[in-house]
Amino acid sequence: MSENIPVSVGTSRSQEAEPYWQGLEQGVVKFQHCGACGQAVFYPRTFCPYCMTEDALEWRTSSGSGTVYTYSELIQPPTEADRDRVPYILGIVEMAEGFYLFGEIVPGEKRVDVGMAVRALAVEGRNGVPLLNFVPAD
Ligand SMILES: [Zn+2]
Repeated sequence: MSENIPVSVGTSRSQEAEPYWQGLEQGVVKFQHCGACGQAVFYPRTFCPYCMTEDALEWRTSSGSGTVYTYSELIQPPTEADRDRVPYILGIVEMAEGFYLFGEIVPGEKRVDVGMAVRALAVEGRNGVPLLNFVPAD
C-alpha cells in the first residue's frame, strides 16, 4: 500500500472554510446563514447558492443536533491504516438548522438507522486534523 495515507476527507483549509475549521477545533459546528433568503448554507462559500447574493452570508453556530439521513457500513478498509478500524459507519446527517454534514457515526451500543437522533462531536483525527463524528443524542 501507499505511504500516502489520507488523513480525512476535505482537509484542505480554504479561506472561505476557515471559520468552520476553527469552530471544529473548539468543539462546535459552524455553518453559514444567508441574510437575504434565510437558507442555511454548507459547505462554506463566498455567495449564497440559493439566491446568488454575495456578501449576505454570516457564520452561525449549530446546535449540533441532527438526524441520520443515510449511512453505510464500511467493511473493506479504505487504506491499510484503517484495517483495524473496520467495520465502521459513515453517514450523512441532516442538521436541525437544515444543512447536511458527512462524518463517522459512532453508535456505541445502539443500532444506527435512518432518522436516528444524533449530535455532532468534534474529535482529533490523524495528524491532529479535527474530524466530525456523530453519536446518539440520548
Ligand atoms: Zn440566499
